[in-house]
Amino acid sequence: MSEEFDIRLAAFRWLAEREASGRSAFSGRELAEGFLYKNRRITLKGQTGIWFPQGFAMPISITTRLNGPYKLDSFNSDRTWTYAYRGTDPNHRDNRGLREAMRTRTPLIYFTEIYTHYYQTIWPLIIIQDFPDSLCVKAMIEPAYKDLRPGVSMEDMIESPLDVRRYVTVETRRRLHQNAFRELVIHAYDEHCAICNLHHPELLDAAHIIGDTEEEGIPVINNGLSLCKIHHAAYDQNFIGIDQDYLVHVRSDILRERDGPMLRHGLQELDGWNIRTPHKNSEKPDPDRLALRFIEFLSA
Ligand SMILES: [Zn+2]
Repeated sequence: MSEEFDIRLAAFRWLAEREASGRSAFSGRELAEGFLYKNRRITLKGQTGIWFPQGFAMPISITTRLNGPYKLDSFNSDRTWTYAYRGTDPNHRDNRGLREAMRTRTPLIYFTEIYTHYYQTIWPLIIIQDFPDSLCVKAMIEPAYKDLRPGVSMEDMIESPLDVRRYVTVETRRRLHQNAFRELVIHAYDEHCAICNLHHPELLDAAHIIGDTEEEGIPVINNGLSLCKIHHAAYDQNFIGIDQDYLVHVRSDILRERDGPMLRHGLQELDGWNIRTPHKNSEKPDPDRLALRFIEFLSA
């Protein structure tokens, strides 16, 4: 096995370790810094979408930027990704690199920008089809590398049956949308609870205003609220309502209750408060959704 392949597996482990500790997005800077492999710095991402670390024959990653020029990049209904070539020359070195990765079934990392300079990772991705006429490739998740542990040999990482792959891809997509929604919403509120202002992302959730059963599509920030665990639960249970003017209402029976400081400061005293909202208008909670949800609160 070539050293380039070993480094590739080390990159997957690097990502897996961070994902295991709860990370779901990475800054462009830390991906550009990458990691050390035998005192050699391995960059995971660079200026170009198709990225070759120094000395690599094939790319280690491909990236889709938020407002990048490649409108072709997409997730397809057959659970594959379409990824556009660099430019229009199929024989550009970067595009040849994609083809070589396809020929050798070499797994890559796919970075998608979810907000400015922050990326979600999808890996290990293999390229399964090349479309030189439409200047793009098709890729899918290869789960065989997902379970990376020291001592797992390449022989153990044999091709998985197609249905397993499909499952993994669907799972990955679901996880991606949930993670992206969480990251986007909490980021929009500068990592604060909209109700009590608590500033600890570990204790924050992205709550839906209107329950989101649609698992596909782009997460809608204005159907979200960044809420701490307590206020998320209180909102879901209709202890607390938020009207379309962003005012907090505490349910009347809760207001009459007598108990300790959590009830008093954490719930009752918030009655009539204004919630914190994101700076960007497009990210502020949608008044129509709030109004619809507020009706449910009033009838609780
Ligand atoms: Zn809170």
